[in-house]
Amino acid sequence: MKSKFRKSHSSYQEICCSREGTYVTISKRWKCFRIKHTRPCLLLCLTVVFFTIFMISTVIVTDETQYLLLSNHNATCKLPVTDPFDPNIMKYIFEPDPIVCSQFPPLMYVDTSGILRINQSTLIHYGLDLSCMYQSIERLNDSDIRFGPEVKLEPPVFLPNFYFRVICRNEKSKIVYDNLHFNFWWNIKNETKSFGVETEEDLSIFVFGLDSLSRSQTIRKLPKTFEYMTKKLNIYDFKGFLKVGLNTFPNLIPLLSGKHVEELPADHESKFFDNMSLIWNQKSMSQYATLYAEDKIEYSTFNMNKQGFLHFPTTYYFRPILLAMEKMKPVFVELFDKERNFCFGHTKRFQLQIDFYKTFLQRHEKKLRFAFSWLNQLSHDNINMLGNGDDSIREFLMWMKDSGHLERAILIFLGDHGFRMGDVATTFVGRIENNMPFLGIYIPTFVKEKYPGLHRNLVDNTRRLVSAFDIFETMQDIMHRRYKQNDANTVYRHSRGISLLRPVHAARSCDDAGVPEVFCACYQTTSLNTTLNVVQIIAQFALDSINKLLKPKSQICAELSIRSIREASIIPSTLEKANGVYDLIGNLFRTKSGISGRYIILIETYPGEGLFEVMIDYENDQKMVLVGEISRLNRYGKQSHCVKDSSLFQFCYCLDLV
Ligand SMILES: [Zn+2]
Repeated sequence: MKSKFRKSHSSYQEICCSREGTYVTISKRWKCFRIKHTRPCLLLCLTVVFFTIFMISTVIVTDETQYLLLSNHNATCKLPVTDPFDPNIMKYIFEPDPIVCSQFPPLMYVDTSGILRINQSTLIHYGLDLSCMYQSIERLNDSDIRFGPEVKLEPPVFLPNFYFRVICRNEKSKIVYDNLHFNFWWNIKNETKSFGVETEEDLSIFVFGLDSLSRSQTIRKLPKTFEYMTKKLNIYDFKGFLKVGLNTFPNLIPLLSGKHVEELPADHESKFFDNMSLIWNQKSMSQYATLYAEDKIEYSTFNMNKQGFLHFPTTYYFRPILLAMEKMKPVFVELFDKERNFCFGHTKRFQLQIDFYKTFLQRHEKKLRFAFSWLNQLSHDNINMLGNGDDSIREFLMWMKDSGHLERAILIFLGDHGFRMGDVATTFVGRIENNMPFLGIYIPTFVKEKYPGLHRNLVDNTRRLVSAFDIFETMQDIMHRRYKQNDANTVYRHSRGISLLRPVHAARSCDDAGVPEVFCACYQTTSLNTTLNVVQIIAQFALDSINKLLKPKSQICAELSIRSIREASIIPSTLEKANGVYDLIGNLFRTKSGISGRYIILIETYPGEGLFEVMIDYENDQKMVLVGEISRLNRYGKQSHCVKDSSLFQFCYCLDLV
């Protein structure tokens, strides 16, 4: 450079100065002008170009996100690794009291050809001189059933009803048996529909889900089931399965329809779900016998603040049994009322649903079957109660395997999110767990051997960021026999849903996978002192945001105040940016109160002692924006009984309680 400069400098001297005061031609003057001004002009041009790029990049970032931190969401996911036995969690973990149901086993059972029989070994409890009746159970709608008239019953007998109630009285006319039974063979004589048969290409799909089941919670509370799944069934254990919505409904809708909950019709809460594009309504599902079962009337995915179904959604439907259970008190020798919440007479409620599932599998053995079972009660309300289900769930999986039901079927065992409420959810580790539900997938051995590429993809994908949209696509691949196409040359990244049988790109981001920023567990945070000025300002903004939501209901809901700021953290601006230029620019924006960035804050409000986690983008004291949804981390119970709008349940503290 130096020599070049000297050269140009000397040529300037030579051309322009050597004949100072003498006449110079126009062409020489022009040459002289060029030499004299090229360097400064170049410098000026470079400055202008750099400034323009700076401005454009700032404008682009500002336009797209309002603030500077945009790329955590678009960055390659760095999956967090949490310890299921983290001391902060373990202080809330203990052995639950066992669930104790009636000691008297049922008097009757339906055998595998649909005949109702007396269990002879139990007669000793009920007496020999019994007079029994049965009542059919008629589903009226998703909220009610009707018991038919009492009809005399003399087992063994085939009853042409799907669900029915059996009542037996002893010689003193005292009711000694009052129980519900179901008969999956009820229409076998007039069966008009024939289902497809499982083949090496046409596989059944069994989904078994538990609410609030994180991967860590599975390891903690279902250790026997987890061991059986990983060691005997050799399931693929997905360590990067992230939730895509706050609670059950927005996580199960993507799983069952491939859609985000916001893509449903705006009035979906006021309409029946019969015509919605749920997987069991798809044309290719017409070959399958289908089952849908959920175990809590009030929490059911399609019924909580929603209309449910007008008709049977699937070939077999569990809900009418639940409704019947609510209308009667079971009698097993004595009226059984103890632990009524978790038992129905002799049987644990979750076991009833498992038995329903098992009978369905038996009824259509070797036929194409799709089953979707969701258990809420055992895992939703109490983080420890799930331990009471470990033996039963493991036994169910063992039974599936040993009875041959998994020979030509895939099994998807999963949760929708982690534990969302209570003490655990307020810990740092608990909040990560909340975003990371369990997902295990079983594939028959012959499929793995026949398609080794598919096995490789699944193994790789257990370490990728995946979501419920991918499970939907996986089921589509199975239903449409596309699972054979495991083209290793195509690595999928930007599709929202990618079948897990195909290669998922290692650099997939939350944004790619349809995981909203607020639930993206892919970045680290740095804790902040809650007394910092910026934290106080952000906390006030969070509170104002909540009160703004409550404003239209200010006649009935209390205005909230901050009792305390429990925790605050920042997602460091240097983290996982897609483009380093943004970091450079971001670091220029410091304000009096603090540094611009994305903050997560945990505040406690009153009245109502609500604990809220809020994510906020902060640029300066006047420029802040809420990111995603606000999550309440403790229960609100009946605090919001006065409002009907479900979006306000977690915020409203009814004024009549103040
Ligand atoms: Zn849930």
